[in-house]
Amino acid sequence: MPASAKPADVAHVAKCAQRRMENLGIAPTPENYLIWFTYYSGTDTDLVHRIDKIVEQGDGFPEDVCQALYARCMSVRSRNSEDERDIELMHASAEIETSVAKVMELLGEAGEEAQRYGETLATADGALSANVAADEVRRIVSGIVDETQRMVAKNREVNERLENSNQQIIELNGKIAEIRQEAMCDALTGLQNRRAFDINLAGAVENAQQDGAPLSLLILDIDHFKKFNDTFGHQLGDQVIQLVGRCLEDCTKGLDTPARYGGEEFAIILPKTTLDGAVSVAEQIRETVAGKSIRRKSTGEAIANVTISIGAAAFHGSEDIEDFVNRADTALYAAKNAGRNCMMCAPVPKPFRVVGGNSAA
Ligand code: GH3
Ligand code: MG
Ligand code: MG
Repeated sequence: MPASAKPADVAHVAKCAQRRMENLGIAPTPENYLIWFTYYSGTDTDLVHRIDKIVEQGDGFPEDVCQALYARCMSVRSRNSEDERDIELMHASAEIETSVAKVMELLGEAGEEAQRYGETLATADGALSANVAADEVRRIVSGIVDETQRMVAKNREVNERLENSNQQIIELNGKIAEIRQEAMCDALTGLQNRRAFDINLAGAVENAQQDGAPLSLLILDIDHFKKFNDTFGHQLGDQVIQLVGRCLEDCTKGLDTPARYGGEEFAIILPKTTLDGAVSVAEQIRETVAGKSIRRKSTGEAIANVTISIGAAAFHGSEDIEDFVNRADTALYAAKNAGRNCMMCAPVPKPFRVVGGNSAA
């Protein structure tokens, strides 16, 4: 939906979001509303893609998944940054939070109003069921008419304010999507870039530390790529990078986040995935890439095959992010040394050794 969506569309988007949250049993919090409103407004195709994948897997939307999606909705901003784009994002994000809070307040108001009206009708019903005089009936009915008019007027006002707030969310989401596109996306492959990878990995590590769920990381590097460029030219080299990017996209799902790490290197964050799970994802990607033949666009002639080497590591609660990435990187170099077109897993880091007074214990 474009930023200039018509009010009728906006109301429809809001209704779809509310209905879907109800059906899925998702708590009606501002954060969840923003996720589903954004989903139905279609302003963030990456979010739509992620949610569709989660639905496809049939795992539902437990709280941690909702939190990760919300972090994804708002994560582009890096606080305290001097970067102009970051500042713009921070403003847009803060405004969105205000608009969503307004929507939630209005939905609450509408609910209270409906309840009050129901109570008025119930009281009138009780009064009418007794043996009452005609005058009294007239008085009660006139009370109901007044209350109905008040309710209709109030509803109209709440709906107008809801439309305004929702329209604002659409516009701000559009703005955020645009800036995110530039700030977080790699122009050549359309995958997330290094900056997005750093933000996502920090979030994934934090989640893993909090809930103790497994978290794995793959670092992938195209083999002998310098030689490929030298032989076939940089332009065809770029097409290979795009092809590998597409393989990563096709072989990952749900919360898995593939990114272009830099040059001809890629990385995939695999939340809630053990090392065994990471190994099977890595193998699938390695085989997929190795199975493709590189063809000249102009003639369709097959000219080469490309392979990748992969390093895998599972996060260990006691290490920091840098150590985690370094272990995956070291495994990648082990794969290169082992002859390329293969995958190596990082060993579990050695536990700290107590030196000194307690060492005998
Ligand atoms: P290895 O198997 O050990 O990884 O060898 P390699 O040749 O792939 O590694 P090396 O680091 O020596 O070379 C990487 C090459 O990747 C050199 C660089 O020109 C190329 N490269 C990096 N980024 C891009 C890009 O965006 N497009 C193209 N076409 N080439 C790139
Ligand atoms: Mg390489
Ligand atoms: Mg490299």
